[in-house]
Amino acid sequence: ATPMSIMTATGRGAQAGVLIKNAEALERFEKVDTLIVDKTGTLTVGKPKLVAVLPEAGHDEAEVLRLAASLERGSEHPLAEAIVRGAEERNVAFADAEDFEAITGKGVKGTVGGKAVALGNLALITDMGLQSGDLTAKANARRDEGETVMFIVLDDRIAGLVSVADPVKETTPAALKTLHELGLNIIMATGDNERTAQAVAARLGIDEIRADVLPADKARIIRELQQQGRKVAMAGDGVNDAPALAQADVGIAMGTGADVAIESAGFTLVKGDLDGIVRARRLAHTTMHNIR
Ligand code: ADP
Ligand code: MG
Repeated sequence: ATPMSIMTATGRGAQAGVLIKNAEALERFEKVDTLIVDKTGTLTVGKPKLVAVLPEAGHDEAEVLRLAASLERGSEHPLAEAIVRGAEERNVAFADAEDFEAITGKGVKGTVGGKAVALGNLALITDMGLQSGDLTAKANARRDEGETVMFIVLDDRIAGLVSVADPVKETTPAALKTLHELGLNIIMATGDNERTAQAVAARLGIDEIRADVLPADKARIIRELQQQGRKVAMAGDGVNDAPALAQADVGIAMGTGADVAIESAGFTLVKGDLDGIVRARRLAHTTMHNIR
């Protein structure tokens, strides 16, 4: 591509909300065969909603929600916001949390009103020496609906499940179809449970999934694909995604996400949906083939 065609692409991109860092980003995107997308905030709206609080026998639903939400006020995770908002909508009286601790990719811990509270995924409760036992079937039923299920632990015992749902963006299904037509293999990476991930992927016709992915794993997954000879683009929005965006042949930051993600990326999508990826890919193609 000529410097002139690169400039044209950069200008056209900017008008369409696709910010291109440099010529290499365009050149590399043209060669990409595999696209890794983060589920939360990329495929989905990224604003999960609380859908169910399922207390175990002997626990009260409102009390379980009060403790969970009081703890989650200390977290900035979208799941935490869902729980806090859900509690507000249900007029729960919050309490102060102490000793708050966030465990990346797993959940949160702390003390609320003298009670030890933990909320998170299977990895979190496993680390605490607990087993999901009878609750597994109940959790799986929600996951099969594409919901994200968290365990709530009170004083070292599982007190129930909290389930949230994050709707798929309106533009996602059509954009995925086009990306397939443009020859990309699509892999969804998520910190979510395998079962939830599979339910979402099946609905969207996604080729492959990587579930239970810790933020640090994303860069490793990309490296492995690259070692198999694949050319990989990665779309993500979180602070946690920066290393993966840097590792990818092409990093695509969702403009709605964290600044550090944007700094690590070759492309930034102002609107932060998959339509932007379709546009970026088409721009790369027309520019590299000097199509006007
Ligand atoms: P993703 O970006 O795909 O949501 P994360 O690594 O942020 O992945 O989170 C992975 C999992 O860890 C979540 O699905 C959830 O089960 C658990 N988790 C993370 N943060 C929290 C939190 N603040 N409260 C409860 N669970 C959490
Ligand atoms: Mg995330």
